[in-house]
Amino acid sequence: MWKIRKTFKYRLYPNRKQRECLLAALEVCRDLYNDALQERREAWKLCRKSIPFAMQSAQLPACKQADAAMRGVHSQVLQDVLHRVDKTYQALFRRGNGFPRFKGKGWFDSFTCPQAGFGVEGSQVSLAKIGNVKIKLHRRLAGEVKTLTLKQENGKWYACFSCMVDGEPLPANDSVVGIDAGLESFAVTSDGEIVDNPRWFRTAQKKLRVAQRHVSRCTKRSGGWRKASRLVAQLHRHVFHQRNDFQHKLSRELVNHHGLIAVEDLHGKGLAGGMLAKSVQDAAWSSFIAKLSYKAESADRLLVKVNARGTSQPCPCGAPVPKKLWDRWHQCAACGLKTTRDHASALEILRRGLRLRTETLAIAGVALEAPSFSYGA
Ligand SMILES: [Zn+2]
Repeated sequence: MWKIRKTFKYRLYPNRKQRECLLAALEVCRDLYNDALQERREAWKLCRKSIPFAMQSAQLPACKQADAAMRGVHSQVLQDVLHRVDKTYQALFRRGNGFPRFKGKGWFDSFTCPQAGFGVEGSQVSLAKIGNVKIKLHRRLAGEVKTLTLKQENGKWYACFSCMVDGEPLPANDSVVGIDAGLESFAVTSDGEIVDNPRWFRTAQKKLRVAQRHVSRCTKRSGGWRKASRLVAQLHRHVFHQRNDFQHKLSRELVNHHGLIAVEDLHGKGLAGGMLAKSVQDAAWSSFIAKLSYKAESADRLLVKVNARGTSQPCPCGAPVPKKLWDRWHQCAACGLKTTRDHASALEILRRGLRLRTETLAIAGVALEAPSFSYGA
């Protein structure tokens, strides 16, 4: 049986004293993060040397001697902060992206206890150096707990347990599907099914626009402004929950019904684009793919991410059918396929996904013919 990593998130209800402890721990971690970053930056500037994790970690006991606040935080939590710095540095060298930033106040919202320093008992989680904090276990914690991350979001605290749980394989299934992020709808499948954006989406969008306009008309930091801002935050949170719910249901359905699911790989497509509505849509799409991805992994189903470039241009038969952005219709002179633009893209995504699968299997030394399927025009 294979294992997959799964996160269980629960709301915490710390009392006033515990809240102070949690915030103090967050501050200690933030300071340590910034100090460790500073040290690495200087070493790099002065002698082009990178400081390894082990070297920074070895300094921790001395730091604790000098700083009383640090002694109030579990040593493994501090180690984990240095790991985070290490990771951002490795990403810097691997991908060459910008220098890691210092974390200002409010930009450090979580810390992690690896392996030790916590335990769950009844409706309480015991945290080393903080105490027993009330927790709402709205669903059962399962599998082998690896780490616990304590996180603050909008002034509320959450416990996120990262666990190794058994995969739950579904019976094998030959059905294959390609999914395209629709322009007017949420998604279109290669079966020709259109998944509309739920109705609440429009209503919520409208409400948000009104609320945001209200905020911009208030005097900044006045009583009315504060009230209006709170309403906007509330609406955002509501939309966030509704969207999650919708995406969980849709991804579950797709994984239950298909053995192979092909989607566009948004990496490299450039999420920017400049348009706000578009970027909101892209964010929704990537959170959907994330849900699809771990559900597929757990169910032993194949999720294939294909190159997103130019999926709207060719016909599934191979002939090019060039389209401009505003062309909503696909009509192929070679094979006679007539359908919507989004449906043609979904078919192309599926074609690429199937080709990728045969390529992967060929590499593994397994001869396999691509399954035949009709385009059902
Ligand atoms: Zn064609």
